[in-house]
Amino acid sequence: MEFQNLLDDIVGSIKPRLGEGNVANSIPELAAVEPNQFGISVATREGEVYSSGDSETPFSIQSISKVFALALVLARDGESIWNRVFREPSGNPFNSLVQLEHENGIPRNPFINAGALVVTDRLLSVSAGEANGVLGLLRDESGNAVLQVDTGVAASESRHNHRNQALAHFLASCGNLDNPVDDVLDAYINQCAVSASCTDLALASRFLAANGARRDGAALLDPHQTKRINAMMVTCGTYDAAGEFAYRVGLPGKSGIGGGIIAVVPNYCAICVWSPRLGSSGNSIAGVAALDEFTSCTGLSIF
Ligand code: GLU
Repeated sequence: MEFQNLLDDIVGSIKPRLGEGNVANSIPELAAVEPNQFGISVATREGEVYSSGDSETPFSIQSISKVFALALVLARDGESIWNRVFREPSGNPFNSLVQLEHENGIPRNPFINAGALVVTDRLLSVSAGEANGVLGLLRDESGNAVLQVDTGVAASESRHNHRNQALAHFLASCGNLDNPVDDVLDAYINQCAVSASCTDLALASRFLAANGARRDGAALLDPHQTKRINAMMVTCGTYDAAGEFAYRVGLPGKSGIGGGIIAVVPNYCAICVWSPRLGSSGNSIAGVAALDEFTSCTGLSIF
């Protein structure tokens, strides 16, 4: 398929919408970004890359990291994580405390913060001694060895993470964290604070469009595990707007409050869009609109 003209057209048609919405401010450092940027990249499973707009500008990946943490845990530890995390949409904000107490410390899914903290805890346990779990995977799969944690963003989140501290301590009180709370929070904050561009993330997400095969052809996940991560992205990947995202875009997706969204066309390609201004559900307004246009024009949707 000829993607380049389409991506250039999308950049043009998205421009008038770049002033809509607001940049995330729950992590003060994220509010410093120039807000009216937009980038899009597509990486096919064969490794062709098409990009347009601000596709090479690094941004804070935030909750997109949760997909990569889950992939590593499934790859290294199999299915046992599902004894500690459910697989249902939450219907509550991603950082809600209420539901966790009602459900005795078992998070609803791995993409809300409580679930991601449990996944990160497990990743620490099964990767003893390895410093760069998610960052290492992103570097390997994107081919960009200089990807880094933005230490300013990480420090900013550390100073303002009262809610995540509350979630982590509550999980620990229920016996659902094995590692010290501060170690889990540090690892979580650092993986969220990785900076990567649309092109980096489209390339790094290709294994989700390739039955779990890595850049070098080795299996990270088997096809069933890959299907399951994609399924969870459909139901739980875009905060409380997963229904609207499925309706408009029709692909597995995962968003972050840095304004990025990854989306997967199984067996074909991975896409990453980025624009910092978010709608009321926390998803990038221009990003969702761009993916809507992409799937409408190409017919590439799982539905
Ligand atoms: N590090 C952010 C937090 O825990 C991630 C939020 C997000 O992107 O959804 O609040």
